[in-house]
Amino acid sequence: MNNEIPYHPVAVATDFAEVVIPLALPLNYTWAIPEQLKAAAIVGCRVEVNLGKSKKYAGVIKRVHRTPPEFFEAKEIVNVLDAVPVVFESQLKLWEWMARYYMCTEGEVMAAALPAHFKLSSETILVFNEEAGDDFTELDTDAFLVAEALLLRKELKLAEVQQILESNHVYPVVNRLIQGKICYVWESLKESYNPKKETFVLLHPDYDHEQALEQLLNNDPRLQRAEKQMELLLGYLHFKKTEGTITKQALLKKTGASEAQLKGLADKGVLILEKRAVDRIRLLPKDIRINFELSAAQATALERIRSALKEKDVCLLHGVTSSGKTEIYIHLIEEQIRKGKQVLYMLPEIALTAQTIRRLQQHFGGHIGVYHSRFSQNERVEIWNKVRDGSLKVVLGARSSLFLPFHDLGMIVCDEEHDTSYKQMEPAPRYHARDAAIYFASLFSQCKVVLGSATPSFESYNNALNGKYGLVTLTERFGNMELPQIGVVDTRKFRTKEFADTILFPLLADSIRGSLGREKQVILFQNRRGYTPYQRCNSCGWVPQCKYCDVSLNYHKVYNKLVCHYCGTSYPLVVTCPACGSHDFIRKQFGTERVEEALQELFPGARVGRMDIDAVRGKHAHDQLIQNFEQRKLDILVGTQMVVKGLDFEHVELVGIVDADGILAFADFRVNERAFQLMEQVSGRAGRKHGAGKVLIQTAQPEHPVLLRVQRHEYRALFDDELPKREQFGYPPYTRLIRLIFKNKIRDVVRDAAAWFATGLQDRYGNYITGPSEPLINKVRNQYLMELLLKLPRSTRLIEQCKKDVLHHVALLHQEPRYKSVVVIPDVDTI
Ligand code: ADP
Ligand code: ZN
Ligand code: ZN
Repeated sequence: MNNEIPYHPVAVATDFAEVVIPLALPLNYTWAIPEQLKAAAIVGCRVEVNLGKSKKYAGVIKRVHRTPPEFFEAKEIVNVLDAVPVVFESQLKLWEWMARYYMCTEGEVMAAALPAHFKLSSETILVFNEEAGDDFTELDTDAFLVAEALLLRKELKLAEVQQILESNHVYPVVNRLIQGKICYVWESLKESYNPKKETFVLLHPDYDHEQALEQLLNNDPRLQRAEKQMELLLGYLHFKKTEGTITKQALLKKTGASEAQLKGLADKGVLILEKRAVDRIRLLPKDIRINFELSAAQATALERIRSALKEKDVCLLHGVTSSGKTEIYIHLIEEQIRKGKQVLYMLPEIALTAQTIRRLQQHFGGHIGVYHSRFSQNERVEIWNKVRDGSLKVVLGARSSLFLPFHDLGMIVCDEEHDTSYKQMEPAPRYHARDAAIYFASLFSQCKVVLGSATPSFESYNNALNGKYGLVTLTERFGNMELPQIGVVDTRKFRTKEFADTILFPLLADSIRGSLGREKQVILFQNRRGYTPYQRCNSCGWVPQCKYCDVSLNYHKVYNKLVCHYCGTSYPLVVTCPACGSHDFIRKQFGTERVEEALQELFPGARVGRMDIDAVRGKHAHDQLIQNFEQRKLDILVGTQMVVKGLDFEHVELVGIVDADGILAFADFRVNERAFQLMEQVSGRAGRKHGAGKVLIQTAQPEHPVLLRVQRHEYRALFDDELPKREQFGYPPYTRLIRLIFKNKIRDVVRDAAAWFATGLQDRYGNYITGPSEPLINKVRNQYLMELLLKLPRSTRLIEQCKKDVLHHVALLHQEPRYKSVVVIPDVDTI
């Protein structure tokens, strides 16, 4: 009996397309798909669409369906731009989730996700007016020339008009043509991605078999007399045999032949010159070479991760600095490649990717590629395509690599997961790449996430302790290296005039001298945030705090007041220290440059490098500095947070933390968590390979609880100290934070708008609102700022409702004439 169901290839209904365009539109619009584009209009493909009268965009089809829009007549899609989709369903789902979760639009996510070269730029085109006929006798010479070309070719780009006129001044001519109704102009979209082209040398197919070739070499009269050309031809045939394809440039270089000789052979139809698109991204050969053994502790950790991931989707690897977490990831990655799956390996910082890629390429060769914002737009398109077609298995990248078109993802590694650089601050989407990665992984079957850190974020650690994530700890350094000894330099001992301008106090200075003498390297850490102005007791190190928010107060120079930038409460300056009774207060700040200067005064012979945002502009500056330090071309590296992140240097013996008080005074409820992370991480750079390392911390408050924890590397104890305070004051991980930032160029307007907004939310969310308050930096690019902080209980239903209400209130706010121009920016899970 034949009970097979007859197969009818039914065309899918594709009458309308929901298209994401790169704008901040609250909803995606719908366009009609014209008959002739129906086959091509596939989800994930880019399309050209019109919006309004003349605006054109390249959008991405999110959905095709049969429901005509209710309130307007859909315009038709102009064109489909891709033969294969640029993104898959999972990317579109990620965009949608991100927009909803982070309170922005899918268009904004798309703008961040796609390499700029997938967006189209518009171009002016002259189109011949068929009614104009071919009588151009009325026209002046310039216009005549262009009109003739138009008659012939029907369309001209502005650049082509320029070529015809041999001049850049084309507009007057174009205007005359438009007035004479010879043409009209049209805005068109053009691709901005340019493949890189190189000329290749090929043998003409006529000679591509033995007989003909022999004939050519031995009996062809055209070559008998051309000795040099014969030489070149033989050279070419040699490379063809050994290397397959060869570029013109390489051939000429290797044979020493001239352009003219090559042209001679081409003219005779022996060789062919052909321009071909080539990869900008040259990948190494693809091989897998794991040539190291895991230590017993690493092997156990690896096994535990594997078994944790059998039950859970996420596993946190809490491994002390230099425990060899990277080596464990390498094993996990290998497994995935062998299964044919893709892996995303995220790092918080571009500086780190350069060092890590060198390590990973040794093991995975061309299976692995890099992606981050310092790549050119053309390069990004090429990596994008290699991920999409699956030829690239592993991508190492900063947060934006999450948007790449993976389609068979088996694992995401999020290294240094605690790092705040994973959160995008500006512009939208203000997403946290770690959290978004966990969502993204859930879109694939069996895709697991490994979070790694020596100092996990309290959010992740809490999730691990309560069983949501697996937890694996690695407590020893690789190679039995000790964790570094951490000492404190008590700066209160140097309060005399003699040391008034001192930055590196004697004990630290002596230790630097000692390390340099032993030809060891030194890292000095000075946090950029050290610039944050605060008031501090010079005798005991006490820093004033807000009564309501458990954060340090900021010193506002303009009002000469202390202000809490969470709740807005202001306090008079403190003149007597409540802790020790001293009247001696300071507001000392200095940055990395000043430290560099001090080093040069103290150690004129030492080679000092500085690593901060100002010093490492440019694509390779970062990596150059790191390599110089690796290769010991520098003795001392001074830097901001950049130097603390996961870098692996062999010869660093001493790490100095120049101003711990500046770190500990930072006005943020996470200050202790952050301070511990910073100091533990920066300490972790010391003594990784040869002999024990040492860390010295300069501080006026040696008994500060965080410093005591840092000295004993007591992460867990710090977590236990801090969590009850988080609960008491209603901070994460017990709540979710949404910060609302208000912007306007008139200060009173923005203040009133924030107050209006807070009042509007008062009824429902009164218990959860802090502020409005003025942030420490209250004016940015001529816009005054105000902030409102929502501390919401962790109920998904309440949070979702609150997001809706906030957006609704933004709409209401904009109904008020006075507040129409106030910009409101929500920042979900603000850090
Ligand atoms: P972490 O990321 O945990 O701070 P790394 O992965 O950078 O630590 O490892 C620290 C150092 O120890 C690196 O130089 C690394 O190459 C080396 N290392 C770690 N594990 C091994 C191993 N199993 N075999 C050889 N070298 C290792
Ligand atoms: Zn004091
Ligand atoms: Zn406060």
